[in-house]
Amino acid sequence: MKIYIKALGCRLNEAELEQWSASFMLKGHSMTAEPDEADVIIVNTCAVTSDAERKSRQLFNRLYRQRPESYLVVTGCYSSLKGDELAHTLGVDLVISNAQKDQLPELVLEKFSSQSMPLIAMDPNESALFQRGRQRAFIKIQDGCRYRCTYCIVTIARGEERSRLVGDIIDEINCLVGQGVQEVVLTGVHVGGYGADINSTLKTLVVAILRDTDIPRVRFASVEPWDLPEDFFELFANPRLMPHMHLPIQSGVDSVLRRMSRRSKTADFAELIRSAREQVPHFNVTSDIIVGFPGETEQEWQATLDYVAEIGFGQLHVFSYSPRANTKAASLPNPVSSQIKKERSLAMRHLGLEMKREFYQRYAGTQSSVLWESGKKNKEGQLVFHGYTPNYIKVRTTVLDQNLKNLIKSTDLVSYDEQYQVVNAIISDTSL
Ligand code: SF4
Repeated sequence: MKIYIKALGCRLNEAELEQWSASFMLKGHSMTAEPDEADVIIVNTCAVTSDAERKSRQLFNRLYRQRPESYLVVTGCYSSLKGDELAHTLGVDLVISNAQKDQLPELVLEKFSSQSMPLIAMDPNESALFQRGRQRAFIKIQDGCRYRCTYCIVTIARGEERSRLVGDIIDEINCLVGQGVQEVVLTGVHVGGYGADINSTLKTLVVAILRDTDIPRVRFASVEPWDLPEDFFELFANPRLMPHMHLPIQSGVDSVLRRMSRRSKTADFAELIRSAREQVPHFNVTSDIIVGFPGETEQEWQATLDYVAEIGFGQLHVFSYSPRANTKAASLPNPVSSQIKKERSLAMRHLGLEMKREFYQRYAGTQSSVLWESGKKNKEGQLVFHGYTPNYIKVRTTVLDQNLKNLIKSTDLVSYDEQYQVVNAIISDTSL
């Protein structure tokens, strides 16, 4: 069978695509990037916001209209939360909840493949990635979360924490290295909690990855800013662990963090960042902020702005709070009006942009290694490439005919480019 898979939402959803496609291929099926060719279409949905829910619905409805003869499978957070509704939705043939995700390929094949299923297994080293030549792969290291942040629907949808075995993760990374992948991003719902259920830790896992694989670059996706041991940042002494972490703080005042049931206080977070910056040269911290959480007073909001400015982040993701059914926060008193949420979101985004500009400008005039990714021809026929430095500064360069894709090159960072919010660069290492 030909299988088309599409994910919405978090990186964890994307990491799952890679695992499933590898499993389908091992069982003798093929993946396609064209829904029009597919026998089975699988949509890995998201429900983190109502907007994400709407987009998930739109996506599987559109795919059904485009290719009604395919089997349509819906999985992910939306399917866990609205499974009954989905089971009666036109075109949906199979709903797979998050709890059953690990067996998704088996469940799909059991339901749809006939006796004539192809039996030739493919070489396990065949690319499991959708876009061949892609340089970065997301590795799911764990699922679920033991915490109950009051606004979070993900934890309800994803269930208890389950970690993958160190050996399985290493095998997956080694296989990706064989396919030419240059960078892996360790992904999960609560990455910092990795290993608690299997007598291991995130630190142990990273040490093993750096020791037992040759992957040139390792990164973390979002990591909650707690549950990290004191000596965690020592790991970054290995230059293959990229000096960047996305540590979501969500608010800059303890009263709001308490209402959110977050596990870190502002002082702890500030100390964590201070320690990271002291130990890791060029460390980049990016973060998430939720504005307009129920009861957020003018004073709390101003204190959050001040706190964020004081810490200083390389990049900010700003979310306006929106209530999700079945979360505790949805029933908290004193909701913030949408007008105020809009104003606060705008102001926070503005601050985020200022901080990013300041961070990027600091690196203009320096040299760094860059993993070059996609390249596109501009009107003049030159190739414009984008890539990232180890500390996740996005850079851009124009070359005449050199194919930089998937290469790590020493690069001169020249100047901040306001229009594209990147750093313009020139390749100083011209060897291929
Ligand atoms: S730590 Fe909080 S926000 Fe993160 S997944 Fe767990 S409950 Fe959700």
